[in-house]
Amino acid sequence: MAGAAVSAVTAAELRERLAGLEPIGLGEDGTTRLAWTAELAAAERWFDEQARAAGLRVERDPAGSLWAVPAAPGPWWATGSHVDSVRGGGRYDGALGVAAGFAVAERLPGIAVLSFADEEGARFNTPTFGSRALVGRLDVADALARADDDGVTLAAAMRDAGVDPGGLADAPAWLARLRGFVELHIDQTRDLERLGAPAGAVRSLASRMRLALAFSGRADHAGTTRRDERRDALAAAARLIVAADELAGGDPDFLVTAARMQVEPNAFTTVPSGVRLWIDGRTPDPTQLAAWRDALAARCAELAEATDVGIELTTASHSDGIAFDPDVRAAMAGLPELVCFAGHDAGILAQRIPAGMIFVRNPTGVSHAPEEDVDLEDAAAAANAMLATLERLA
Ligand SMILES: [Zn+2]
Repeated sequence: MAGAAVSAVTAAELRERLAGLEPIGLGEDGTTRLAWTAELAAAERWFDEQARAAGLRVERDPAGSLWAVPAAPGPWWATGSHVDSVRGGGRYDGALGVAAGFAVAERLPGIAVLSFADEEGARFNTPTFGSRALVGRLDVADALARADDDGVTLAAAMRDAGVDPGGLADAPAWLARLRGFVELHIDQTRDLERLGAPAGAVRSLASRMRLALAFSGRADHAGTTRRDERRDALAAAARLIVAADELAGGDPDFLVTAARMQVEPNAFTTVPSGVRLWIDGRTPDPTQLAAWRDALAARCAELAEATDVGIELTTASHSDGIAFDPDVRAAMAGLPELVCFAGHDAGILAQRIPAGMIFVRNPTGVSHAPEEDVDLEDAAAAANAMLATLERLA
């Protein structure tokens, strides 16, 4: 039925759809639509209007995510993203995927459009809340007890927004309503800009490992302690930071960040006695990550021997990457493939159902900031690629 008469999604159409959403939560320092707030409720009213215009019925799942579903019984292929934002975010992160989703659903009968609850996790540090609840990978008790900066718990915030937190554990029953999920999202890097492509297919989400290191040396006078008598924890940590990066072998897809450090006593004229250091490593290849950790552990042993500083290395967290569904990727034929280094709802769903992502070129790579920008012509090209993809899959 969808066939010859289906018109292409245009930049003008996307601009018009987004115009209703953009003023909501917009302030001098960008867009702020945190989960379970009045701004979010206003954004959800926009979702409602978009759904109604597309002939879809809106339902809310037990995690508070919105589902715009067709009259035909499920399970359905679905698209969408999220309408919440970080504090002082941009116009397109999440919003573009939902707007494009309605443009696609209007042209392709039988497609559902989702807006996941609290994707950014900016208020309660609960990123991808709605999708994790849906796939049954949310620690419900832990999440509900979390409090925001004002001491309001997530459970109370949900209740205020009209969602019963007591139903949260029932969210996974809704997953059976989906055949699969394809999300359109802005690129948060300059990868597509470098490739000269308006849109790309995400092959996988990178694997990620967070290492915690503790260095124990000895506090001494910075002026009177001779070199051979020092046990300088910070000097050892500095050498390890350099080693961690070198052990990634210059691979452009292997990102190493020494992201956080605490120094004791952190005082002028005292040789540092203790350092705690956290290093984040991300790469598409999980075996590479394990090898990197092993090599770093060996380097710690050498360094401890050479400096007389005690070094303890532990893996604070580790998540294997997600390869998106091969059939979904095949349906995105013609788009260049990329690896994504951030988390997304589609990546969470990919743990349980076929899923994929289409990225839109971001000329500056900036996101989570008001300067975030895309050319809506590129977004329209991506939306049309999504339309073709879902046509093939559904
Ligand atoms: Zn997003």
